[in-house]
Amino acid sequence: MVNEPLYSLRMRAAEGRAHEDGGLHISGGERLSTREELEEAVSALLRKALHHSRGTADFINIAIEKVAQEEIPVLAPLPISTYCTTSVQAGRKQAADLLRQSSVSDAAIERGFEILTSSYNLRGAVLLDSQSGERMDTRGTKGVRVSRMDWERMSHAIWKKRQPLLESVRVSEAVALATKVASAAGTVAELCWSDDPEYSTGYVSSPTKGYCRIFHLKEEGELSGGRIFFVTAETNIADYIEYLEKMPVWIG
Ligand code: AMP
Repeated sequence: MVNEPLYSLRMRAAEGRAHEDGGLHISGGERLSTREELEEAVSALLRKALHHSRGTADFINIAIEKVAQEEIPVLAPLPISTYCTTSVQAGRKQAADLLRQSSVSDAAIERGFEILTSSYNLRGAVLLDSQSGERMDTRGTKGVRVSRMDWERMSHAIWKKRQPLLESVRVSEAVALATKVASAAGTVAELCWSDDPEYSTGYVSSPTKGYCRIFHLKEEGELSGGRIFFVTAETNIADYIEYLEKMPVWIG
């Protein structure tokens, strides 16, 4: 695997028109692939774009770039825990507790919730100062899209066998993303719930707490959602974004 050419794949799909022309974000996806697996990876991204409960994709962009490869780091997936909360109120309280335990301030937690509950068309993540709650990036609704990460095939098969209840592609993808985010210098914690109206389970993740799935972070049928990355005030934001967008990593 190490010496084969590697490709980064990025997909984004929107309804109505392209994102930059005001279209509604439908879905996105990021993969790392060898040349041999490229066709299957493109097909998987296309399937994801074409079948999404947020709507019908009228615009689909799939970008494929060869990745200049040296030694690519392999990150161990974050350990998973699940909180079976039974209401949105309880789910959000649990999320706030976990964020607090990861050293995010109450003000920043409140700001994170405000942003996610009022975002219906966020394509990437919003970066917030983990103490003041101030926004640290200038990307607007485009946000910061974490790319160039994927599961190493053999390790993924073993990981899936160990977590038979978490077989969904959605959880695998989210754990890969959260693992890369947690590995970035400056990350304090992450808060996520999907903008998919049919999926209300979200998560808090952090280097100290791992990947904490929480049932009911929003009501079924709601279109709101997105990701918040809480970072330390000292974080060099340009370097942080460069790492998340450009540095290839395997999860395994
Ligand atoms: P999903 O988990 O695919 O339902 O995505 C939910 C939300 O998380 C999206 O609307 C984006 O705001 C954000 N998001 C999804 N993928 C990424 C990514 N690769 N990097 C940063 N944010 C993302």
